[in-house]
Amino acid sequence: MRTIAVLNQKGGVGKTTTVVNTVAALAAMGSRVVAIDLDPQAHLTIHLGLEPQTIKSGSYGVLIQSAGFEEEILLVRPNLWLLPANINLVGAETELVSVVGRETILREAFRTAEDKFDFCFIDCPPSLGLLTLNALAAAQEVLIPIQPHFLALQGFGKLLQTVELVNKRINPQLKVNGILLCMFEDRVSLPNEVKADIEQFLDKARGTNCAWAQARILPVYIRKNIKLAEAPGYGQTIFEYAPNCHGSEDYRKVAEFIHNQSQPNANATEGTKNCPIKIVDVATTNSQNVATEAITVNHDTGCEPDNQLERH
Ligand code: ATP
Ligand code: MG
Repeated sequence: MRTIAVLNQKGGVGKTTTVVNTVAALAAMGSRVVAIDLDPQAHLTIHLGLEPQTIKSGSYGVLIQSAGFEEEILLVRPNLWLLPANINLVGAETELVSVVGRETILREAFRTAEDKFDFCFIDCPPSLGLLTLNALAAAQEVLIPIQPHFLALQGFGKLLQTVELVNKRINPQLKVNGILLCMFEDRVSLPNEVKADIEQFLDKARGTNCAWAQARILPVYIRKNIKLAEAPGYGQTIFEYAPNCHGSEDYRKVAEFIHNQSQPNANATEGTKNCPIKIVDVATTNSQNVATEAITVNHDTGCEPDNQLERH
């Protein structure tokens, strides 16, 4: 089974839309899929047509009340299960603080169910707190949706650094597998510049041992499409709401790509060079004002993230 955390601490970039429509397409293709709503906003739950106030326990119960994963998941479409969220999840970050093993509760709960699914997608909240750490501890892959505008890369270094730290300390399997460009407008030049920036940045990590050394921008991207914004209001996936629109076409391609991808970790060759986490100039020359966050991580000292940040 592949477990994919869909993550970007930036809000409104297309995380939930990506999870809903990718899992729906994969399930329609015959895969057994489970989606986990780890966002207190419960958008994934709502988008799939459930009322969060009717959810008694859901992901909160699994994280805080030792509820069993399999008891809490619901069959929401053929082949598609959901671990829903309710409003209680808002308090989970605080409640988890004093719990021993707080980063790995989801992973432990999920272990018993692993064999039953082909794919698990986790919809992360727009933050890098304990809920997100639980997702990263449970996953093998990270998929990062990015909206290619001029602030898109701000915080990108911090995000990768978080993945890197989880990889080194809690979950050595964890890799950034893909970057998905969402709400893409082909006719505008900036998205292409941002795309070039990301490619250049990712290329610097090839052949190293860092968690995003094999990350690629997915060869399919999601165009801006109003139908994708309307579908959640009806509790429907894009394939139910507007099966012939661009959004439907794009997410079907994303699901096909993920489905056809060879297991990313199976043939992975670890690089020998150290990660060049001088994430300097994530932004490049072509796009002014794009983030210029620079990070230096010293793996030997294993110092805390805040101490590793060097802003230029
Ligand atoms: P949050 O960080 O709040 O969880 P998110 O990253 O999950 O947000 P979404 O909720 O998926 O982002 O998308 C943000 C908004 O943009 C939603 O209203 C969604 O319907 C809309 N949207 C997502 N993708 C597209 C698209 N390709 N074209 C047009 N609208 C889109
Ligand atoms: Mg969301």
